[in-house]
Amino acid sequence: MRNYTKHYINGEWVESTGTDTIDVINPATEEIIGQISSGTEEDVHRAVMAAKEAFPYFSQTSREERIALLNNIVKEYENRKDDFVQIITEELGSPISKSESVQYEMGLQHFKQAAKELETFTFLEDRGGHVVQKDAIGVAGLITPWNFPTNQAATKLASAFAAGATVVLKPASKTPYAAIIMAEIFEKAGMPKGVFNLVNGSGSRVGNAISSHSDVAFVSFTGSGAVGEKIMKNAAEGIKKVSLELGGKSPLVILPDANIYKAAQTAVEGVANNAGQVCTAATRTIIPHSIKNEFVEAVKEIVANYPVGDPVKESTQMGPQVSKDQWETVQSYIQKGIDEGATLIAGGLGKPEGLETGYFSQLTVFSNVKNDMVIAQEEIFGPVMSIITYDDLDEAIEIANDTVYGLAGYVYGEEPKLLAHVAKSLKAGRITINNEDGDFQAPFGGFKQSGIGREWGDYGIEEFLEPKSILGLPNV
Ligand code: NAP
Ligand code: MG
Repeated sequence: MRNYTKHYINGEWVESTGTDTIDVINPATEEIIGQISSGTEEDVHRAVMAAKEAFPYFSQTSREERIALLNNIVKEYENRKDDFVQIITEELGSPISKSESVQYEMGLQHFKQAAKELETFTFLEDRGGHVVQKDAIGVAGLITPWNFPTNQAATKLASAFAAGATVVLKPASKTPYAAIIMAEIFEKAGMPKGVFNLVNGSGSRVGNAISSHSDVAFVSFTGSGAVGEKIMKNAAEGIKKVSLELGGKSPLVILPDANIYKAAQTAVEGVANNAGQVCTAATRTIIPHSIKNEFVEAVKEIVANYPVGDPVKESTQMGPQVSKDQWETVQSYIQKGIDEGATLIAGGLGKPEGLETGYFSQLTVFSNVKNDMVIAQEEIFGPVMSIITYDDLDEAIEIANDTVYGLAGYVYGEEPKLLAHVAKSLKAGRITINNEDGDFQAPFGGFKQSGIGREWGDYGIEEFLEPKSILGLPNV
């Protein structure tokens, strides 16, 4: 059992002021794997006070000191690789190969990228008539979801440390252990006390206390739109800055000249990844009407052979949903798709054969989906694809942009002019052409209801800074 009922405050592991605990469950086995503390408002207050006290010192550290700190973190993070891979497989149900290649790796890359950005980052810019100096914002409250435990926390932490801001982190209570390993890493890396504080517990209590604390200057949140709204409301009182990374319903536009089988593989990967629990998942597959039959056949074949199952097995590519609640949500959307009259071509209701224990969904694909159906408009956060057809490219772009979200977009095909045209026309914060590799410098964030602000790389660091213009600065 992993019983970690302490918080990390002011450079020490401390008892919670409360006695309640939260069980952490392995979603592949449905077994309790440990407990964390259910933190209190008092715990949050102590953490915020520690961060506030550390701020004057940490915000004045030099660029070189913070680069050295980030480089130490990278080294210690690499030393804990096996622990991360094991824990994320257990707490999230992520397939073990992906726990390494995606989960472990993404967290690491954010710290590396932040160190690299700092080498050249402009904190003082002479703009002719004035200079702009960028000051660290103050105490930042970081609230993260369960779907990428290292990535979501690391992008915020790396940016905050690079900027010289101090933090209080509340990770998702469903997947708290990756953040506990990070606290151990920071301690080893020589983090000055009070710069990083970790309070575990529920969103309604710990998260709420962070976003309403008067000494928190900035709340950086990743999660659902519903909680994002609550955070904005809390932040309105006292005028806190917020950054919100919320949901998505991202389109994959397939061009008429695409290799149909490879396009179908891309589409299936896009919804199977992390069991569909990806905010940038390409869940609306928008294809030319003319290739529909061939495309549907290719998708059926790929789904039938997709390795869904025990996350501990090396060959597994898709594990369970993170929780029973999430599994039930996915089921309700599959039922909704059937009720709305979409055509079920793969998967469907219930668990995959032989996977009765664990919160496993079937990899599910609907065709004949209309973009105004609920399954095409609402974020399911599960492995459910909606295939929608178009007659010409203008219609494809119109369908792609007909959503309240705008987090990501994808385009797949051959003709460079068409690829560029579609990519430039999509209204979303991150567009990927033909499975181009990720880039940890590229800004990440959403248009419309997908959020406010940007993370990753230099854009991420900017969020933790306040620009100050100085007029008439003497040249001293
Ligand atoms: P969620 O319910 O919004 O939870 C996210 C975090 O907020 C958790 O740590 C949660 O704590 C906390 N929280 C809950 N209620 C709160 C409150 N009243 N005040 C402050 N914090 C509160 O989201 P989720 O179910 O974990 O994740 C799924 C959603 O996140 C999806 O909509 C997905 O699209 C979105 N998401 C977006 C991105 C992105 O980068 N844009 C990335 C990942 C996920 P507890 O759960 O511990 O109670
Ligand atoms: Mg939740």
